[in-house]
Amino acid sequence: MQVEEIKKLKVGEILENVSLRNYTTYRLNTIGRLLVFPQTIEELKKLISYLKTKEIPYKVLGGGSNLIFKNSTYEGVLISLKKFNQLSIIDNQVNVGAGHSLIKLALKTASLGLSGLEFAAGIPGTVGGAIFNNAGAYQSDMGYVLWKATVLTPSLEIITMTNRQMDFHYRTSFFKKNPNYIILEGKFLLKRGKKDLLLAIIQDRRERRMESQPLTLPSAGSVFRNPKDIAAWQVVEKLGYKGFSVGDAMVSEKHANFIVNTKEATGEEIVELITKIKKDAAEKLKIELVLEQEIIE
Ligand SMILES: Cc1cc2nc3c(=O)[nH]c(=O)nc-3n(C[C@H](O)[C@H](O)[C@H](O)COP(=O)(O)OP(=O)(O)OC[C@H]3O[C@@H](n4cnc5c(N)ncnc54)[C@H](O)[C@@H]3O)c2cc1C
Repeated sequence: MQVEEIKKLKVGEILENVSLRNYTTYRLNTIGRLLVFPQTIEELKKLISYLKTKEIPYKVLGGGSNLIFKNSTYEGVLISLKKFNQLSIIDNQVNVGAGHSLIKLALKTASLGLSGLEFAAGIPGTVGGAIFNNAGAYQSDMGYVLWKATVLTPSLEIITMTNRQMDFHYRTSFFKKNPNYIILEGKFLLKRGKKDLLLAIIQDRRERRMESQPLTLPSAGSVFRNPKDIAAWQVVEKLGYKGFSVGDAMVSEKHANFIVNTKEATGEEIVELITKIKKDAAEKLKIELVLEQEIIE
């Protein structure tokens, strides 16, 4: 890769050969060849334009809370929008940068007496990643509250997309089907609510998560989507995988739809474990498990 040329572009801070341990919630030690933090839309455009011209693969990295880097190195360019973390709240309209933490946003809006993002207070990662995945919980998701988004198109135009155009469905969106679009900012319309009540809802759900999920070990949340008529954790449990390990990747004893990194798990081990479970579910139970996490080769 033309690292020196990329540095000369002056497109923000650049980290070379960086361990992704601090950039993935699985805490994978995959080495990212280049991790770039553009600070402005102009820098982002300049970087993407260069990478496209040189046909260098790239991937936007949010909080890395839904990602499995399969190999020991990721050879493309990782682009973090961490610096796109501006926040403006006027009345009930919230404009927030794609790199802003979703949990912090949910806590901030609730503490201002704005209701709608309570469901998001336990979902790690960024606003951009949540829009991409249509992250959700408790019968709500981003599609319910996101009004519009500012987006960088593959031809490097900045457009505003409406909720309808973003085509939100269960854990999917327009962006998942069109990964060359980059979300820059989300615009939410929230409702007025009672601050104390909203914070109490968040606290109650947080306690429930702590009780039912293995939050003290690194993971990327639910591994599989819930199939029809049965919960994914029940499928995994029925197959006898609770506590089963491949290397340091283990099916959680606490919640069978979580894989946890017990020490130094690699992406390859996690993927091997997922593949085994999927194969068994198909062969023994005739259930097609669909992965909720994303594998990056
Ligand atoms: C403990 C735990 C609990 C979880 N609970 C839930 C839950 O209740 N509900 C739920 O839905 N998920 C849950 N998750 C999964 C995960 O947190 C969500 O999917 C989250 O929204 C991913 O956001 P991220 O910023 O980490 O995205 P990443 O994992 O970094 O990226 C996900 C995808 O989004 C793309 N992307 C990121 N930012 C942008 C952008 N600005 N523009 C375009 N594409 C972008 C990436 O390229 C990638 O393809 C949980 C995870 C953990 C670890």
